[in-house]
Amino acid sequence: GTLIQTNDLKKIYYTDEIETTALAGVNLEVKNGEFVAIMGPSGCGKSTLLNILGLLDNPSHGEFYFSDQEISQFSERKRADLRKENIGFVFQSFNLIDELTVFENIELPLIYLKYSASERKKRVEEVMEQMKIMHRRNHFPQQLSGGQQQRVAISRAVVAKPNMILADEPTGNLDSANGQEVMSLLSELNAKGTTVIMVTHSPVDAEYAHRVIHLFDGQIVSENINTRDSTLV
Ligand code: ADP
Ligand code: ADP
Repeated sequence: GTLIQTNDLKKIYYTDEIETTALAGVNLEVKNGEFVAIMGPSGCGKSTLLNILGLLDNPSHGEFYFSDQEISQFSERKRADLRKENIGFVFQSFNLIDELTVFENIELPLIYLKYSASERKKRVEEVMEQMKIMHRRNHFPQQLSGGQQQRVAISRAVVAKPNMILADEPTGNLDSANGQEVMSLLSELNAKGTTVIMVTHSPVDAEYAHRVIHLFDGQIVSENINTRDSTLV
């Protein structure tokens, strides 16, 4: 089925009387289980699009269907509820909380979702095992390498079993070996059914996607199917 559908999505920012059209009419459909990469030059609207698809921001114009609900004008509160239950985020800069341990960082989404302490422990340990980060459970982010920090961030993104992961340049701060490990983890999660939408500048990372969308000046200008993956085409 279809997870995301946008029709003529536009985003206009108004700052100091300057009007910036960040998205100029985006029509995008993403099916459940897809792995989509978004590429394009700096300033073309990639982050803006990811923020809207991730229910962090509303579009200025157009329709946005998420799991068949039209949500473009949802209140902040309703968007936040939908977001916490459905979406995990992974960022270039990891965005971990320095004062919390690995375990506590990964546990956070489950606290928001009101899991019990015993459910949290069970689920966090399961994910730490899967992400090969168990031996670091009591460490703080600053005691970890970049690759390890990103594995913690991915753990936090998936701990509540979201149906979609949004990744913004997930390998941007990593060397190529750690970058490939992170891409393999995202690929594995996708293979188990999680939809992945990723912004990247890296053609190597884009190879992991089923489909690559190119944005330019706030519009989709081309789309490639990665033929290596015949399963979804
Ligand atoms: P990308 O992620 O591709 O670099 P962005 O989505 O960040 O592009 O930005 C698209 C355009 O919107 C740019 O011209 C940028 O300056 C502008 N923009 C982004 N965020 C804001 C904001 N909060 N306020 C004003 N302009 C913004
Ligand atoms: P990664 O999983 O990213 O390779 P690890 O946490 O396994 O990182 O650490 C990298 C290397 O450091 C491994 O060879 C591991 O055995 C070793 N190592 C892990 N924890 C410690 C530690 N507390 N003290 C010393 N060496 C460690």
